Amino acid sequence: MATLLTDASRRLERAAQYVPISDDATERLKFPKASLKVAIPVRMDDGSLRVFEGYRVRYDDTRGPTKGGIRFHPGVSLDEVQSLAFWMTFKCAAVNLPFGGAKGGITLNPKALSRLELERLSRGYINAIAPFIGPDLDVPAPDMYTNPMIMGWMMDQYSIINGRRSPAVITGKPVSMGGSRGRDTATGRGAFFVIQAMMAQLGKSPEAMTVAVQGFGNAGSVVARQLFEAGYKVVAVSDSKGGVYNAGGLHIPDIQQFKQTHHAMKDVYCKDTVCNVASHDTLTNEDILALDVDILIPAALENQITAQNAASVQARYIFEVANGPVTADADEILDKKGVSVFPDILVNAGGVMVSHFEWVQNRSGLYWTLEKVDSELRSRITQEAAVIWQIANSKAVSFRTAAYIHALSRIGEALNDRGTRDYYLQ
Ligand code: NAD
Repeated sequence: MATLLTDASRRLERAAQYVPISDDATERLKFPKASLKVAIPVRMDDGSLRVFEGYRVRYDDTRGPTKGGIRFHPGVSLDEVQSLAFWMTFKCAAVNLPFGGAKGGITLNPKALSRLELERLSRGYINAIAPFIGPDLDVPAPDMYTNPMIMGWMMDQYSIINGRRSPAVITGKPVSMGGSRGRDTATGRGAFFVIQAMMAQLGKSPEAMTVAVQGFGNAGSVVARQLFEAGYKVVAVSDSKGGVYNAGGLHIPDIQQFKQTHHAMKDVYCKDTVCNVASHDTLTNEDILALDVDILIPAALENQITAQNAASVQARYIFEVANGPVTADADEILDKKGVSVFPDILVNAGGVMVSHFEWVQNRSGLYWTLEKVDSELRSRITQEAAVIWQIANSKAVSFRTAAYIHALSRIGEALNDRGTRDYYLQ
């Protein structure tokens, strides 16, 4: 069975046909540069000791220090972390950030830990990976089930280990600890700018478009809210416990409010579900993927649309807010059905773009206004979306292949400009 990483490599090979890049370079890019697996002992509240397994993968640093989030989830594995690190390499290049790609994670159910246990785990993870990260080496950030509070603990721990304040080692921190304004909503906001840009190219007006969003977390809830405010009809949203549907359109601010009120943030993670909101029908996470809508936004986990269920997708456009929600096999089925898939490495790049702004602010010591963050994000991501649109149309390839061509051209250029050391020193 294909691993996530071999799936990712297929996309690389497809794009490599269109880019003047050597076979050596393509082969090198199929393998992560370094993968670290660590054991993290944690003293639990009841006095017992539990050992968690964690990973950090630095995939490729040709274009700069590596960059990528840290995920706390029961499904975290080395294969998953390597694939996510691969995607980060291409995402950073696709939107022209001076970073390579990385990713990290710990295999656990974070909802089962108390806040103090989570803090000890987060600090323990940094103790284990500290030599592997750094402002000029590898810069982590939040991902699924990690948040600014956890990034703050991690930055603090790294600073203790190194005996100096190092805010630029990690992004997505609370603003009080050197975080950037606008980082919390950046992924959803960036996805919204990409959707707007693509709908403008397609000549579609928001009012005419129905939308379903799978995953109502940091990324999914923000994009749903932005679309709602711009006049799109968001008819379905879901979280891990199921979804809600209303053919006339859902009132997204009310649902967000509901999630926040029932979100026991004091326990770090929400305990409630959007399914409890009134005036709706409920639906499962499988149903939401097959809804008859114009735009489908998977914003939860990878591998949601596969060869098994791709044929049942009725949406005309898929915007990948999650990383890797559509498998390579499903891509082919969707392509034949005429479904346009706008890829993760463009659509959800707003998060890493504002992470880059945060890293720049930490290094300069000069902090930006929300307006400046937002206008930089809007102009940069819209510009990259326009280039990817143009590549897809001029080469008659999918938007995914176009995004990979765009990214690979930049990585290839950096590899060429670096000279011959890769040829002789492997
Ligand atoms: P999050 O933890 O804030 O939210 C995840 C959401 O998905 C929650 O609502 C959860 O209930 C839901 N969910 C979990 N399992 C599900 C399932 N099986 N079916 C439906 N919903 C499910 O996470 P997030 O930060 O919003 O990340 C979501 C996705 O977006 C991930 O793939 C992540 O890699 C990607 N992403 C996030 C960012 C970011 O800045 N937050 C940046 C880039 C990419």
